[in-house]
Amino acid sequence: MQAELIAIGTELTLGTTVDTNSAWLARTLATVGVEVQRVTLVADDIGAITEVIAAAWQRSPLVLCTGGLGPTADDLTREAVAQATQRPLEFHQDLFDGIAARFRSFGRTMSESNRQQAFVPMGARPVPNARGTAPSFIIDEGSRALMVFPGVPSEMKFLVETELLPFLRNERELKSVLLVRSIWLSGTSEAEAGEIIADLMQASYPTVGISAKAAQYEVRISAQGEDPAQVEADIEACAAEVERRLERFLMDRDGLAAHVLRRLTNRSASVAIYEGLRGAPIYNALRSAKPDLVQALRGVTIHPLDQAVDRDAAESLAIAGANTVRNNWQASYGIAAVPAQVGADGFTDVCIVLVGKDLQRSFTRRVELKSDDALGFIATAALDLIRRSLEA
Ligand code: ATP
Repeated sequence: MQAELIAIGTELTLGTTVDTNSAWLARTLATVGVEVQRVTLVADDIGAITEVIAAAWQRSPLVLCTGGLGPTADDLTREAVAQATQRPLEFHQDLFDGIAARFRSFGRTMSESNRQQAFVPMGARPVPNARGTAPSFIIDEGSRALMVFPGVPSEMKFLVETELLPFLRNERELKSVLLVRSIWLSGTSEAEAGEIIADLMQASYPTVGISAKAAQYEVRISAQGEDPAQVEADIEACAAEVERRLERFLMDRDGLAAHVLRRLTNRSASVAIYEGLRGAPIYNALRSAKPDLVQALRGVTIHPLDQAVDRDAAESLAIAGANTVRNNWQASYGIAAVPAQVGADGFTDVCIVLVGKDLQRSFTRRVELKSDDALGFIATAALDLIRRSLEA
């Protein structure tokens, strides 16, 4: 089944609110086998909203609108749906009573403008909104359906889960399930991992894709079908193959920082950090892990350089810094990241050094320090150095 989403509100077209409702809806619909074909943002303008809804109603078996159900003059969705589907608005006393009761339960009096929220297009099934005042409704014509949701994300999600999904399962007999499994990697590149599983990525079932964030990678395996047990078995078989081929890069699903801290904790080992960058990338990555894991982090010294140094000097400072923090904090490992001066191309060599008992490893990560991802890249490189040493 194919669907079309329409997110209504001038705050969306102005970009002051990001349309997270449609993204959530699309992901949720995919789990029951509904494929979103189009997503439209439209401002609070009756003509524009009506036009968009009318076009969607003509071509899509399922149209879902969010936003613009409130009581104010700029809440135009109800009126637009009425015009687009040529179903005049009808007053529903029970909806009105429900809104009034909700106001009473808050100890507030209902204003006259809330009355318009009790109107729904002729023949539509009103859907009371237990999480807010704006009632929703469904127009069900058998071959096509339209449902409206409040813009407030928590109210929208509640109504999708309690009303839309049961409607799709029961009235449209959607049985399809979509299952997704993620496998997390570090210490590789998207290209390298992609080559190793190229044949799996080209297959149409299950689908396999890779996405990257700060040099950590997620391999997503997804499969859709009507038999949940079969879909799960297919996903598991594919995941086992991906894990077999990429074994040396696998990390825990809660991220590289947790992975490293967990391995340290399991060995009763610990780490201390020497940060030569003001942004303290390694410390920031590790401190976000769960409190019980953070115990493996003994201490941190943040000591930004007061003058630019060349790469060799940066490496010497990193070696000295890693040894100093390891000794000072009596940690099993010391790790340091010290930047060299910025090159003519705007890039900087950041020297990362790991020291431990009879161990010293260096790695240089070239980054553009001004870029948003730079600190994430440095943290990943440093944590990966620890990870590989622990697993060697
Ligand atoms: P209410 O009766 O609560 O006003 P409504 O249906 O009129 O409900 P809107 O006024 O359009 O909803 O939006 C309410 C709030 O919900 C907005 O201020 C915004 O924060 C959020 N919101 C609206 N649409 C979206 C969207 N597409 N994605 C994310 N948030 C949204």
